[in-house]
Amino acid sequence: MKPYSQLSKDELLSMRSELEVKFNEVKAKGLSLDMSRGKPAAAQLNLSNGMMDVLNSQCDLKSEEGVDCRNYGSLDGIKDAKRLLADMSEVSMDKVIIYGNSSLNVMFDTVSRCMTHGVLGHTPWCRLDKVKFLCPVPGYDRHFGITEYFGIEMVNVPMLPTGPDMDIVEKLVSEDDSIKGIWCVPKYSNPQGISYSDETVRRFAHLKPAAPDFRIFWDNAYSIHHLYDDDPDVILELLEECEKAGNPDLVYKFISTSKVSFPGSGVAAVAASSANLADFKKHMKYQTIGHDKLNQLRHVRFFKDMDGMREHMRKHAAILRPKFEAVLQVLDSELTGLEIGNWIAPKGGYFISFDALDGCAKAIVAKAKEAGLVMTGAGATFPYGKDPADSNIRIAPSFPTPEELAIAADIFVTSVKLVSIDKLLENK
Ligand code: PMP
Repeated sequence: MKPYSQLSKDELLSMRSELEVKFNEVKAKGLSLDMSRGKPAAAQLNLSNGMMDVLNSQCDLKSEEGVDCRNYGSLDGIKDAKRLLADMSEVSMDKVIIYGNSSLNVMFDTVSRCMTHGVLGHTPWCRLDKVKFLCPVPGYDRHFGITEYFGIEMVNVPMLPTGPDMDIVEKLVSEDDSIKGIWCVPKYSNPQGISYSDETVRRFAHLKPAAPDFRIFWDNAYSIHHLYDDDPDVILELLEECEKAGNPDLVYKFISTSKVSFPGSGVAAVAASSANLADFKKHMKYQTIGHDKLNQLRHVRFFKDMDGMREHMRKHAAILRPKFEAVLQVLDSELTGLEIGNWIAPKGGYFISFDALDGCAKAIVAKAKEAGLVMTGAGATFPYGKDPADSNIRIAPSFPTPEELAIAADIFVTSVKLVSIDKLLENK
């Protein structure tokens, strides 16, 4: 198929009327489809239902070190859970603290603590005139939401196929001591599905920030969420790289079992250097007498170990893979060669990121909505909800059924075509 930009005005207009007919037919069906958020489908949640049976009134409810999980105690988590989440984080058990049900909550809490109490004795960020965070874009809207909430100025850094543009990161971080952090989703990033290259991870470990209290917020939310188990992305473990580089305190690693077991009812953890963990614990001891140890125990009894968790993730992949492939197949067959959009076929994670012609993303999302398809709001993948090029759209294929997805993908590509034609007609 010829690129749309090479078509004459008449050709574009006639294609437009054909597409309008098709679009109006779908619209008349009054569909209600949702590709807006990265939620697991019910079939995926069912995979973990056995977790409801591993603890009952007859069970021994003690952890392996004999802690009664029904009672207070074990502020930073039971040993069994530390082992499991340390394995998941690829660090040793002494580098992990177990939290509650959400890693995003820990990230919020961490930024909050840095604001009010500072990092390892440094001036609390709230007392500084300016605090900035680097935000690789496109990125995760809820990360940007946290920093926006605390009045932290966000600075866009472009994503490359290897991760954030490290030339820019190194330059900004070394020159500006008001830059205190960077948001990173290093594996199967949200939304592009990009995994950081070894060179990127090493360059992170070797950063020389002007601010001594600069931290890398390393949110490894999709660490074991491969779509192709025989071809998983593997990234270097940053904490060890930081130690080797003589920068052990540079990173906070966040992780959770949200998209392994139950989102909202999983277990979250932080991995960091001993100095950083002491900082976390100092705060934590005022915050709680302990997190939900029965849930920790439930997770350990259900998954048993990392092999059990990996096996479980294969079952997730078997459900997710056909959904990703269904969407990608429609994008490939309907849009390849038209030069009205680019996308990356991810090897894991929860999203497909689509870059439309500049100035088209908002209109495409609005068009799809007309036909009953809800997408993530255009702009959401950028700080302040502002995509300067109005180009990026996040596609979340996990929640709809495969049948719904085929229809949803069709509505999406028809919307892309219609809006792109209108854009190109502006200059004809
Ligand atoms: N980080 C990223 C990158 C995510 O995509 C998500 C879920 N959409 C989260 C964190 C949320 O994790 P949790 O449920 O542990 O708060």
